Amino acid sequence: MIPAAFDYAAPTSLDEAISLLQQHGDDAKIIAGGHSLLPLMKLRLAAPALLVDLARIPNLSYIREDGGTVAIGAMTPYVALEDSDMLRRRVPLLAEAAGMVGDQQVRNRGTLGGAVAHADPAGDMPTIVTALGGTIVARGPNGERTIPADEFFQDVFTSALSPEEIVTEIRIPATEGAGQNYQKFRRRSIDWAIVGAAVNVTRSNGSIGRASVVLTNVGPKPMRASAVEQALAGQTASSDAVRQAAEQADQGLDPSGELYASREYKLHLARVITRRALQAALGL
Ligand SMILES: Cc1cc2nc3c(=O)[nH]c(=O)nc-3n(C[C@H](O)[C@H](O)[C@H](O)COP(=O)(O)OP(=O)(O)OC[C@H]3O[C@@H](n4cnc5c(N)ncnc54)[C@H](O)[C@@H]3O)c2cc1C
Repeated sequence: MIPAAFDYAAPTSLDEAISLLQQHGDDAKIIAGGHSLLPLMKLRLAAPALLVDLARIPNLSYIREDGGTVAIGAMTPYVALEDSDMLRRRVPLLAEAAGMVGDQQVRNRGTLGGAVAHADPAGDMPTIVTALGGTIVARGPNGERTIPADEFFQDVFTSALSPEEIVTEIRIPATEGAGQNYQKFRRRSIDWAIVGAAVNVTRSNGSIGRASVVLTNVGPKPMRASAVEQALAGQTASSDAVRQAAEQADQGLDPSGELYASREYKLHLARVITRRALQAALGL
């Protein structure tokens, strides 16, 4: 399939990119790795008149430690997350989950900023960044702002970003010592999640402190399993506590059925893979 005709700009600074977005309004679209946008353009589900490529803007691809926070540039590809020893130590869940996205080609080109900005409810990164309590840094004509992931993802392919804003960085609190796991239920290893469950749990003296549990592809955005989180807080980390809490993972969910999974099957999967993710995170 061939996309509709479009113009192409490759600005060399963020200010220039923001100014292009201001001039062209809804007719312009940022392109990062292109692995979500180009398929949409080829199917003619998107037909931007102008693509604004971020690839030539310096200093947008990095992974840095900054106090207790890991800062990741928006143009950092999945492969760099997967391969970062520092990230594997400081935020293992993000490094591991990056290795579960698509196939090697997708991971070579797709970027964390693109995945976050795209706000696909079936995407892995929105769930992971939310479960980790991440924040998204965006720059626009009025300067920079920082948006917690819980507020950033709003609806299907809809985020708190305005059309003139660019995601520049994703910040994740370092979580060394936490229990973490992502279960991605899919037909083949390269597929998208039919349902995913991300868990980030703090522990002390055999008890669960704070539990963060977020699900992929069971609603219009990453869905926080609040009932599970509440059921676990303060509990002794035991198989029974996990089993009982995970039974509540489908509370408040109303997922749409799709080709490979009915609504009921997705609700069943939400309970089962939440239990598996909790068991793995807590070493049970
Ligand atoms: C075969 C295939 C398999 C895949 N499998 C998976 C999978 O298993 N799991 C998964 O989560 N994803 C999967 N993906 C999607 C992939 O992860 C995308 O790369 C990612 O979702 C988007 O990142 P990108 O850099 O390619 O963004 P692009 O496609 O370039 O952009 C996506 C959207 O975000 C906007 N955007 C991009 N960067 C910014 C920015 N910095 N600021 C503001 N807006 C921005 C663009 O305007 C566009 O609307 C798959 C894709 C393909 C082609």
